[in-house]
Amino acid sequence: MVIVVGSGAGGATVAKELAARRIPVKLIERGPAIEEREAFKCYSRTDTEVAILRTVCLGGSTVVSAGNGMRLRCLESELRERNGIDLRAELDAAERELGVSVLPDVLFGEGTKRIMDAAMSLGFSMEKMPKFIDGARCKPGGRCVFGCPEGAKWTALRFVREAERAGAEVVVNTAVDEVVVRGGEVKGVRCGEKMIRDDIVVLSAGALDTPRLLEKSGLPASSDSLFVDTFITIGGVLRGIGLNREVTMNSYIGFEEFMLAPHFSNHLVSLLRQGGKGRGRGLDVSSSDVIGIMVKIRDEEQGEVKEVVSKGVTGHDAANLAEGASIAGSILEAAGVDPATFVVTPLRGAHPGGTAKIGVAVDRDLATEVEGLYVVDASVLPEAPGGPPILTIVALAKYLTRRLTGSCS
Ligand SMILES: Cc1cc2nc3c(=O)[nH]c(=O)nc-3n(C[C@H](O)[C@H](O)[C@H](O)COP(=O)(O)OP(=O)(O)OC[C@H]3O[C@@H](n4cnc5c(N)ncnc54)[C@H](O)[C@@H]3O)c2cc1C
Repeated sequence: MVIVVGSGAGGATVAKELAARRIPVKLIERGPAIEEREAFKCYSRTDTEVAILRTVCLGGSTVVSAGNGMRLRCLESELRERNGIDLRAELDAAERELGVSVLPDVLFGEGTKRIMDAAMSLGFSMEKMPKFIDGARCKPGGRCVFGCPEGAKWTALRFVREAERAGAEVVVNTAVDEVVVRGGEVKGVRCGEKMIRDDIVVLSAGALDTPRLLEKSGLPASSDSLFVDTFITIGGVLRGIGLNREVTMNSYIGFEEFMLAPHFSNHLVSLLRQGGKGRGRGLDVSSSDVIGIMVKIRDEEQGEVKEVVSKGVTGHDAANLAEGASIAGSILEAAGVDPATFVVTPLRGAHPGGTAKIGVAVDRDLATEVEGLYVVDASVLPEAPGGPPILTIVALAKYLTRRLTGSCS
């Protein structure tokens, strides 16, 4: 049997792939099983200078993803050239299975189109975002990052169900507290008082928990190299535009160090309404009057996951955020937004990674120095992708399965 810890992008994929090969799997998830439409209830925010977002539930953070799957920013060449990991076949398979494609024109709302036209008028080419959203089932309502009510977006819950159908045992509401290691070999995991024995364990608890589990067992991690793809959203008022009801981030402009994408955020509405001497504008606006552009950077790896998580902004990060915000501002102005209404959301990050890197915590086979203990989740990523990491994590989990099935058979 193989124990898989965590049921997000990495864990669900490895569980599904192993179960499909008739290898017994026990998938252990700390959070509850949920209805996809209720995923927002499982948000867990880690407050540091850059607030880190994730969801703790079956399916991990995939249940609230925006459905973005960009092959362009998936570290394919970095992993091949620097780490000797060729993921081409696995990424092809991941794109196929997740159903990555751009959405049909009818699913592009007025707000997104306004931003795309304005960007073009300034000489920027804004592309349609590749999505793992089924265009035939999608009914835009601005709910992607709360949990899709239509089930149109791929989430790891699909792989969890496939794993279960193939015989995997799925245990929820159960946190793994420790990986048990004796004499250089993994012996299983401990959940509270209970020891679950096995000689193969895959850690996929995500970039905030995997390094803690490794370090608790005396194993190396890279817990001081946390990146999160820090983002802000700059927005303003465009009465009746309705971006809040559209597919989020349905287009993008890619720059070397950052990307821009149409984005509505409730923070923008609060800031626009807020009066007084703060950053607010004291305006009478409804959500449908607000338009925004996200600036997401490839941040430097200066965050830490120790007992307390910390993640700030370096000078380099700040310069990229400022440059992105200035371009986003000019696009919004060209789209008809009065710059006097501009507000900017707090610093956030939704792609934590890099805390158990390939080359530090694991080798190119994703194996730790302990026999039978492997890691596959965002923590193994060697650097900030500056873009959506799910495709890469799914591909790495498929890559690991190939190696494990070699060792299991
Ligand atoms: C709002 C939002 C939007 C996003 N949009 C996109 C997008 O459009 N495209 C994209 O590619 N990425 C997106 N991401 C990022 C993406 O969701 C994550 O990068 C990805 O899910 C990380 O996969 P993972 O396997 O590392 O961790 P996760 O998917 O977070 O899974 C880790 C799992 O481990 C569980 N766990 C943790 N500790 C324990 C323990 N001790 N015992 C048992 N279980 C444990 C957690 O509960 C969780 O279920 C988004 C993230 C957020 C928050």
